[in-house]
Amino acid sequence: MTSSPLLIVGSIAFDDLDMPSGQHRDVLGGAATYAALSASLLTLEHVRIVGVVGTDFPEAHLANLRARGVDTTGVERKEGRTFRWHGRYSEDLASRTTIDTQLNVFADFSPQVPPGPGASPFVLLGNIHPQLQVNVVNQIGRPKFVAADTMNWWIEREPTHLAELLRKIDLLVVNDEEARQLSGQHNLVRAAADIRKRGPRALIIKRGEFGALLFDDAGTFFAPAYPLEEVLDPTGAGDSFAGGLMGYLALAGDAPPAVLRRAMFFASALGSFCVEGIGPARLLAMSRADLAGRIAAFAKLVDFGGQLSLPL
Ligand code: AMP
Repeated sequence: MTSSPLLIVGSIAFDDLDMPSGQHRDVLGGAATYAALSASLLTLEHVRIVGVVGTDFPEAHLANLRARGVDTTGVERKEGRTFRWHGRYSEDLASRTTIDTQLNVFADFSPQVPPGPGASPFVLLGNIHPQLQVNVVNQIGRPKFVAADTMNWWIEREPTHLAELLRKIDLLVVNDEEARQLSGQHNLVRAAADIRKRGPRALIIKRGEFGALLFDDAGTFFAPAYPLEEVLDPTGAGDSFAGGLMGYLALAGDAPPAVLRRAMFFASALGSFCVEGIGPARLLAMSRADLAGRIAAFAKLVDFGGQLSLPL
């Protein structure tokens, strides 16, 4: 395999999805899967993925990831069953309930970054125990830009490890509920200021169909979600967003504020493709040309034709 500008760590899963339109079983899932599929549409080199699967995980899934430009050398295969998640969506797909989570081989996952031909300067830490996320950062020499995701489970149970993680990352990507819980502030602008004081210079707050906010030293920035006529399955949208964002940064080779702002649109575009299929089906089927088309549509969506100022 060639060198990889982007390393992604996270879950690789089988998902059982109860959608209003029907039930889907044993769907390929996991945060690392969605993020890697999205990122691989952007970076011109391979995306490295670090995760664990059980003996029940079909080799064909890994082959599909490789075919999409994902280096799977860092996917460990362990005796036992793959991580499983079972979710049920509300009629309007706006909320979901976790019916069951079976950690299986993911329970004692200790991510090991495989020695590669050159370290990956960009790192995306999917939602796992914050202590493991810190361990990954420590294994990598001098990453240029580290982004992390987390969830309410860790915010409630592992505040000390999470505090250490926040000091080590450049960007935290969370949803509005998680930002409120982490900061104890209901107002998102205040929540962002509080979280950024704890370490990450940038914070993205995802708001699903209401777009995403970026807070950094250059100020506050907003990217809408792409308006779709039909949403089939929101599973993995957040991870696809993060993967698209990091894929764009890895392609650019740096993450100054202007690049981060442009990356928000690629992130949002990939999130929008993800929700158009059940599981990662749409991401697996789409091409770079499809992405280019949606980016062009995005540019039109936010183009107001000139300067936005009050005529005096
Ligand atoms: P998202 O919809 O972006 O939150 O991501 C959904 C994906 O996260 C699914 O494919 C699940 O397999 C995975 N997932 C669900 N719960 C967990 C968990 N506790 N830890 C890691 N991954 C999870």
